Amino acid sequence: VAPHLSVRLGNRFARELPELTVPWQADEAPAPQLLVLNEPLAGELGLDPAQLRTPEGVRLLLGNDVPDGATPVAQAYAGHQFGGFVPRLGDGRALLLGELVDADGRLRDLHLKGSGRTPFARGGDGLAAVGPMLREYVVSEAMHALGIPTTRSLAVVATGRPVRRETLLPGAVLTRVASSHLRVGSFQYARATGDVDLLRRLADHAIARHHPAAADAERPALALFEAVVTAQAELVARWMLVGFVHGVMNTDNMTISGETIDFGPCAFMEAYDPATVYSSIDTGGRYAYGNQPVVAEWDLARLAEALLPLLADEQEQAVELAVAALDGFRPQYGAAWTAGMRAKLGLPAGLDDGVVGPLVDDLLTLLQADHVDLTSFSRALGTAARGDAEPARLLFLDLAGIDGWLARWRAVGPDAEAMDRVNPVYVPRNLLVEEALTAATAGDLDPLHRLLDAVTSPYTERPGLARYAAPAPGGSAAYRTFC
Ligand code: AMP
Ligand code: MG
Ligand code: MG
Repeated sequence: VAPHLSVRLGNRFARELPELTVPWQADEAPAPQLLVLNEPLAGELGLDPAQLRTPEGVRLLLGNDVPDGATPVAQAYAGHQFGGFVPRLGDGRALLLGELVDADGRLRDLHLKGSGRTPFARGGDGLAAVGPMLREYVVSEAMHALGIPTTRSLAVVATGRPVRRETLLPGAVLTRVASSHLRVGSFQYARATGDVDLLRRLADHAIARHHPAAADAERPALALFEAVVTAQAELVARWMLVGFVHGVMNTDNMTISGETIDFGPCAFMEAYDPATVYSSIDTGGRYAYGNQPVVAEWDLARLAEALLPLLADEQEQAVELAVAALDGFRPQYGAAWTAGMRAKLGLPAGLDDGVVGPLVDDLLTLLQADHVDLTSFSRALGTAARGDAEPARLLFLDLAGIDGWLARWRAVGPDAEAMDRVNPVYVPRNLLVEEALTAATAGDLDPLHRLLDAVTSPYTERPGLARYAAPAPGGSAAYRTFC
């Protein structure tokens, strides 16, 4: 216990859904060293950053001291991994410490990753290396700064315990914050137990925490499903608009809240190409950039299957309701994506869809043909709207093509004002992330802090940060990520 750290951690999940939990403890870290602490997030959570930096605070961040009343648990869930169903995954190297009430009165999970083996660890060592935990920290905080729903990162603490991968690496624990850790896979697990009461309690828990309006619907579980469809359609549209490639959209990595979760082999696409894959394990391209909306819909179909017993008494009617709700995904995704593209291109409100459609499609064809960096182009288009098209033109070989497109675009009267607020200058570019993680693994945290500085204020261009806005020299197509 840490008596002078007055942190109150609830155990609502563990109390309401004991069948989905195994009470467990984090491994003792032999030589803890706080690598990075998210002070603004600590503030949001009502935690004192200065206290978190003390040895007692670091023990809290590691789960080595557990506040009175908290019940750390490993959570059970199932999941389709690359299309194949695994009935028992669960937190193999993670723990839910408990829930905090944040400054806005919302419940937030405090969660650990890399805290040691649990009963769900299977063959895994339960550990995490400094590099991947810092990757999750940087990318999740960048996503948050971009305004995209995501789990957050409170801290990364090096444990002093080496982790065996291809080589020996320094170990670390990520302290993660989420509005919950309910996954599509949580519902698949509950469904597979055959215990409909458990499934119903899980749905009620999810409704209360994330989609409270569903409680008043005629069919609350159906309303929950519809709300998740909407949240995911909007989320994946946001990913697509910034070129985010999640990398492992297994059903255990899709949240019920609509937050991005589990940043493993994720990466930001540079040269625009729907076939872009970075993950070393995604050899078939299942989770390629351009496949993400289709995969999200597929994952949601698995959620619908898990929920069937709650949708209606008659199986046939339940299926009909589920199919109708899932049919909402494509139009909602399409509407979110189109609205986002309109904003990126500064198109005036009221411009006819019949004009917008071909304008967007033709642009994407040009971007793909010339391997144009999506982030650089989008930002340069704001400059073009203010009268200087050169930065945008410079990105193309096919000048006739882009000049023709720019003329059509100018003719619709784009509005420069709003564009810089939706087109980031800085995203966590792959080689910069790699450089920062390599340096941090060797003990130098300066590149990490510079990168964080850039990507956590993504829309404000700063003169000293030009290299953080530049695509990889020679392109990043051959870049590979590992989990
Ligand atoms: P992920 O690919 O990170 O979403 O993880 C998929 C599953 O593998 C989850 O059940 C994780 O808890 C588990 N897992 C991943 N890495 C490890 C590890 N080093 N030790 C134990 N379990 C792990
Ligand atoms: Mg996962
Ligand atoms: Mg994981």
